Amino acid sequence: MSAEQESAVLAQLHLDLFIGGEWRPAAGGRTFSVDDPATGRQLCQVADADAVDARNALASAVAAQADWAAHPPRERSDILRRASDVLLARVDDLSLLMTLEMGKPLAESRAEIAYAAEFLRWFSEEAVRIAGRYAVAPNGRGRILVMRQPVGPCLFVTPWNFPMAMAARKLGPALAAGCTCVIKPAEQTPLCTLALADILAQCGLPAGVVNVLTTSRPGPLMDPLIRSGLARKISFTGSTEVGKELAAAATERLLRISLELGGNAPFLVFSDADLEAAVEGAVIAKMRNVGEACTAANRFLVHSSVADEFGRRLAERMSAMTVGRGTEDGVEVGPLIDEAARSKVQDLVSDAVSGGARTLAGGSALDGPGYFYPPTVLMGTPPTARLLREEIFGPVAAIATFESEKEAVARANLTQFGLVAYVYTQELSRALRVVEALEVGMVGLNQGLVSNAAAPFGGIKESGYGREGGPEGMDAYLETKYVAIAP
Ligand code: NAP
Repeated sequence: MSAEQESAVLAQLHLDLFIGGEWRPAAGGRTFSVDDPATGRQLCQVADADAVDARNALASAVAAQADWAAHPPRERSDILRRASDVLLARVDDLSLLMTLEMGKPLAESRAEIAYAAEFLRWFSEEAVRIAGRYAVAPNGRGRILVMRQPVGPCLFVTPWNFPMAMAARKLGPALAAGCTCVIKPAEQTPLCTLALADILAQCGLPAGVVNVLTTSRPGPLMDPLIRSGLARKISFTGSTEVGKELAAAATERLLRISLELGGNAPFLVFSDADLEAAVEGAVIAKMRNVGEACTAANRFLVHSSVADEFGRRLAERMSAMTVGRGTEDGVEVGPLIDEAARSKVQDLVSDAVSGGARTLAGGSALDGPGYFYPPTVLMGTPPTARLLREEIFGPVAAIATFESEKEAVARANLTQFGLVAYVYTQELSRALRVVEALEVGMVGLNQGLVSNAAAPFGGIKESGYGREGGPEGMDAYLETKYVAIAP
C-alpha cells in the first residue's frame, strides 16, 4: 500500500464525536492520538469525549428510542442490509483503515469486514421475524398474549482486537430489535466504529439512534451513564477485570448486562486425531489476529503419543509465516497492539522456558519500531507455567502432554475461564463425551474457528454471560411482556 492510499483512507474519516446525528468536537475541545502499531507513528487525532458529551450522547439515544422502536421492521431491516452491502463494497478502504489502526494483515482485515457485514445482514433478516405468541389459557377462561419489545437504549463498550466486528455484533441485533445506543470503541482503535456510524447514517439511520463516544477516559465517562438509570442494557466485550467492574455498577440499577470476556481456550489433540487437520486448525486457532483473540487457543494439550509429531509440524508451519507490517504484500503476522502486550508475551515465554519448556520456534521479541513478536512454539510446557493460566494474547503455542481422556478433560477445565475449547478426535463417541464434559460456551470440533454470525457466541464461568449472534443474540435486545386477556 502506498502512503497516498493510507492518507486518502484517513482523509475521508470523521474524527469527531457522533451525537444526535451530527459530527461534533468534544465539548472540552480535547483530542487524543491514534497510532499505527506497526510503526508507532501517529495516524490522526480523534475527539476526546468528556462527561458533558456522554450525557448528550445518552440523552440523544433516549430521545430517539420511541421513534426507532416504532419504525416498521422492514425499514430497520433495509437500513442494516444497505449498510452490510456498503461494508462489502468498500472492503478495500475499510480493511486498510483497520490494518492501520489495529495492525492485522490486510487479508485478515478483509475477512473481518466480511464478518461484520454478515452480522448486519443476518440481523437485517431477523428484524422482520420478531414475534410473540398467543395461547388459550389451560382452563379455557382467558387468553395469554406474549409480546416482544425492544429493551430500550443500550450502552456498548468494545475492545481493540476486532474493531469492526465487535461493533457490528452489537449494533446489528440492537438496531434490528428497535434499540438505540451509545457506543464507546477502544481508545486504540476508534476509527472503524467512526466509519461504521457514518455508513449507517448514509444508509438512512435516523439521527440519535447510534451515538459514538471516543475517549481516553473510559471509566469516568461510562460509569455515570451506567448509573444514570436512563440506559436499559449494557453490552461489554473486553477483559474479565473491567467486565466485573461494569457488572458491579450495572447491578446498582439492575441494568441488563451481557459480558463477552477473556478466555483461556484449551486445544485438545487425541491420539486418533487427523494430525494434518489438527495442525491446520491449530494455526487458525492460534494465529488468527496474531493470537490477540478471546477465542485464541491458549493451551495445546496433546496426547503423548502424537505430541512430538504435532509440535514438529506446528513449528514448521508457524516459523514459515511472514511477519511484518500488515499493509505489505504477503505478510501473515502483524504487530501486537502495543509495547505492554509485547512485554507481557515475552514475560510469559521466559517464565515457561525457565520452568523447563523447550523452544521449537520463535521465542524472543523482534527489533523494530513496531511491536512485533515472532510465531513461537513451546514444547513440554510445565504445569506451573503462567501461560497455562493467563490469556497470552500473542502468537505463542504452548504444548503440554496428557495420557488419558479423563486427564485431558480435567486439565482443560482447570481454569476460571470458559469461553471456547477445540477438540480433535475422529472417534464420535469420544467427541461427544469430551464436548459434554468441557466447561465452555463453545466448542470447535475438528475445526479451529467457531465465529459465525448465525451462532450464539459467548462463554461461561469468568468468560462472562449472555450470547451474541444467532437468535439468542436477538433475544438479548427484546423484552417479554405478558398480557392476560379476560375471556
Ligand atoms: P479492556 O481493557 O477490558 O478494554 C475493553 C474496552 O473497555 C475498551 O473500550 C476500553 O477502553 C474499555 N474500558 C476500559 N476500562 C473501562 C472502564 N473502567 N469502564 C468502561 N470501559 C472501560 O480489554 P482489551 O484489552 O481492550 O481487550 C482484550 C480483552 O477483550 C481480552 O481479555 C479478550 O479476551 C477480550 N475479548 C473478548 C471477546 C469475547 O467475545 N468474549 C472478544 C474480543 C475480546 P480503552 O480502550 O480506552 O481502555
